Amino acid sequence: MINKLDIKTHSKTEFQEITSKVREMVRDSGIKSGICVVYVPHTTAGVMINEHADPDIVSDILHQLEEIAPRQGKYKHTEGNAAAHIKSALIGTSVTLPVNYGELALGTWQGIFFGEFDGPRNREIMVTIITNSL
Ligand code: ZN
Repeated sequence: MINKLDIKTHSKTEFQEITSKVREMVRDSGIKSGICVVYVPHTTAGVMINEHADPDIVSDILHQLEEIAPRQGKYKHTEGNAAAHIKSALIGTSVTLPVNYGELALGTWQGIFFGEFDGPRNREIMVTIITNSL
């Protein structure tokens, strides 16, 4: 089962937590045990799992990504968004989570974050939920 999640971003770069939306999709699917894949079909966005208890952490990650790939730099890509492609490559475009007893097997401190690196835009996330019990 593939679900789509529409996201509206508001800044050039930002992380948006999507844990509760993905959790709801898993609950709605009714599966007890399996795998949930969260995939971003974009080249200037990404998805990661990291700490959601302290918002300073995603802020620090965003800041460090900016240090590694500053908006202005000596890039060959002429579209003007090379830095966004690099950030997307570093963060990655999918995460895979186990589903146990009908719930995402996230650790206490973990959350799922969508990363925008060339916003603001309307984005799409694909959530594939597969059961391992037939
Ligand atoms: Zn580009």
